[in-house]
Amino acid sequence: MNNNFPKIGVIGVGHLGRHHVKHLTKNTECLFAGLYDINNDRRNAVAEEYGTSAFGSIDKLIENCDGISIVTPTKVHAQVAEQCIRAGKHVFIEKPITKTVADADRLLQLAEENNVIIQVGHIERLNPALMPLKDFNLNPKYIEVQRLAPYTDRGTDVPVVLDLMIHDIDIILSLVNSPVKNIRASGVSILSDSVDIANARIRFENGTVASMTSSRIARDKVRKFRMFQKDLYVTIDFLLGLTEIYRVLDKNEEDPDAIQTAPLDGYGSSRKIVYEKPEINKMDALEMELVNFIASIQGKETPIVDGYAGREALDVAIKIHDMILEDIH
Ligand code: NAD
Repeated sequence: MNNNFPKIGVIGVGHLGRHHVKHLTKNTECLFAGLYDINNDRRNAVAEEYGTSAFGSIDKLIENCDGISIVTPTKVHAQVAEQCIRAGKHVFIEKPITKTVADADRLLQLAEENNVIIQVGHIERLNPALMPLKDFNLNPKYIEVQRLAPYTDRGTDVPVVLDLMIHDIDIILSLVNSPVKNIRASGVSILSDSVDIANARIRFENGTVASMTSSRIARDKVRKFRMFQKDLYVTIDFLLGLTEIYRVLDKNEEDPDAIQTAPLDGYGSSRKIVYEKPEINKMDALEMELVNFIASIQGKETPIVDGYAGREALDVAIKIHDMILEDIH
């Protein structure tokens, strides 16, 4: 393999896979090898649109690549990824990593044996609106997230917890440095045969509580995140790319823009709060994920969301989903 310019291909060029092709064909750090989709018309159309090769067989594409983006429906992630990994290829697997934790464990084991990278497409982890959080010493006490989306057929091969809520589970697991203590969850099926609306509450060993609501039966998209910790309140609108931070100043800190609270019990005086609206860099999170994948193959970086993180998010998602099913029946 030429590590400097790895050869990259895409398997599955539907709604999202086409965007992978768009970014990868522009990326100057890799050589775009081509694409494969079981749907003949689809693969030819996308190959023509981006001036690249459509392979007539998955084996041929795999043979011609060092790394592969897998953007097929979730139910075939495990089968396709296994074939790539057994051939010694690095894989970027769209989220969720697989449909079952057993499948994820098998892939992780195979990746260790074949010395290849698994990266998982938990794209929200690269959402620019989350980046200002890096400037704080985070120790969240309470997190509340809402992710609502209008119904589409895409993604309905898995329940809403594995389709939408898993984004928030992954973000929350990356922010809370403590094992999950217990989970409460409930949900309902409305349009599909599986759960379309879910609510879950995770309590972590360190006392942090996270509450999430996900729905694919909504008129408008909503993606709101609120995080509370001692002396800090952060609210993020992922759709607007808007992050707002309310920070309580230390006793000896001054800020002319601070507002004063009413006197607070236990403090003997009021406290000063500053409001900040950090500038959010506009960047394409999918493009950044793929840049990270290529740099990881080149040995310059490590995956921001690796296979183990993808497996942890899936494990919690499946526990939530199983609890909802128990609750329904
Ligand atoms: P899609 O149905 O639009 O596209 C899937 C494509 O895979 C289709 O073109 C289909 O013909 C092809 N395909 C199916 N089986 C295949 C196989 N065995 N080999 C090769 N090609 C095959 O689906 P989508 O919306 O693009 O979703 C694809 C994946 O991306 C899913 O895992 C989904 O969860 C994930 N996704 C992630 C995000 C995100 O925010 N990160 C958003 C949307 C979708």
